[in-house]
Amino acid sequence: MKVFVLNSGSSSVKYKLYEMPDEAVLASGQVERIGMDDAAVTHRVPGREPYRVQEEILDHTTAIQRVLGLLTEAHDGAAVLQRIDEIDAVGHRVVHGGEAFHGSVRVTPAVKRSIRELSELAPLHNPHNLAGIEAAEELLPGVPQVAVFDTAFHARMPRHAFLYALPHVLYRRYAVRRYGFHGSSHRYVAERVRTLLGDGGTARIITCHLGNGASIAAVQGDHSIDTSMGFTPLEGLMMGTRSGDVDAGALLYVMARENLSLAEADAMLNKHSGVLGISGLASDMREIEEAADAGNETARLALEMYAYRIRKYIGAYAAALNGVDAIAFTAGIGEHSWRVREDVGASLGYLGAELDPEANRAARGEALISTPHSRVRLYVVPTDEEVVIARDTVAVVTADREPVAARRPGARRG
Ligand code: ADP
Repeated sequence: MKVFVLNSGSSSVKYKLYEMPDEAVLASGQVERIGMDDAAVTHRVPGREPYRVQEEILDHTTAIQRVLGLLTEAHDGAAVLQRIDEIDAVGHRVVHGGEAFHGSVRVTPAVKRSIRELSELAPLHNPHNLAGIEAAEELLPGVPQVAVFDTAFHARMPRHAFLYALPHVLYRRYAVRRYGFHGSSHRYVAERVRTLLGDGGTARIITCHLGNGASIAAVQGDHSIDTSMGFTPLEGLMMGTRSGDVDAGALLYVMARENLSLAEADAMLNKHSGVLGISGLASDMREIEEAADAGNETARLALEMYAYRIRKYIGAYAAALNGVDAIAFTAGIGEHSWRVREDVGASLGYLGAELDPEANRAARGEALISTPHSRVRLYVVPTDEEVVIARDTVAVVTADREPVAARRPGARRG
């Protein structure tokens, strides 16, 4: 089965074409700066030089059409597909599934309506995710489309974890609650950890997704019971440019003193805070580490705060899980910054977690970074959100093809 995975943003479309169930990547790439006359297309086929071109691409349909064209054209070798109709299914990343979606679903008119309604909660993402779905439907008529939600992995959090202690009417009226994000990443990493643990079915796992955006999740079984991002991706850990947790009272005070509009306050919290806001230098962790090594004080402070916040959340989630069996680090910083992992991992002794400093510094790709005596296993697990989308797409499409009687336990057969 050939599965085309699409991640459609406001001005970009990222794609991967998989041969399933082998999970072999046949091609991948992205179209950036959609809407401009110099949109940048990068198309990669394993074992070949990347193909790059700049041209006018004004909307998502044109972008996806261009990608489908690239898949059937010969570039530096045979075409990846002889014909577009070799694509069996399309899997779409959709950021917000609200309370409506607890798992991945086949796209129907009703599903699209829900995704559109949920744009209210994710105005920067859902409309573009939907534009990608509609473009793919138009360009690949009759091919099943599947929506995979970033929020779904967190959809079974208990209410004491997802509710804010605001007047309850606000939840009923506006669905103001914790949703959590990065779900496909937390899910992928937790599944890997369960496999690495061997008998990991009921393991208590804390997954730390540390990229430009960052979140942490407490996982038990096949779903999270709590996660640090909330109603929006702003809450929780300190991030590249987002503040993470902040006293709402401090925000109200600053808004009043500085006479900030909602848009200005939003920009302050989401774009000018976090590692960038504290260091005054950069949001990029590599630059911060270099500056700290060169003796820059604000870069050091940003690093200290960054790691401290993660340590606090690990403590909180160990309490939420009533113990912890494994902690995993993923995404750009989690996978590559031995220093952040060391700053976090070296102070988890109270949990029975013992970081192996050499293994941690030497880690490349998936690695165990705790000592053999450590009661809690510490891992680096490179994330792969696209493969989660491809797997779910296969599962949803295959389930749809089975006769209904075969799917319902207890249903009468024959
Ligand atoms: P996104 O959330 O945009 O997908 P990534 O997961 O790619 O982001 O993470 C980006 C972050 O990872 C940046 O802060 C970057 O500096 C950091 N990063 C990448 N490689 C390294 C490295 N070798 N050492 C430290 N930080 C790194």
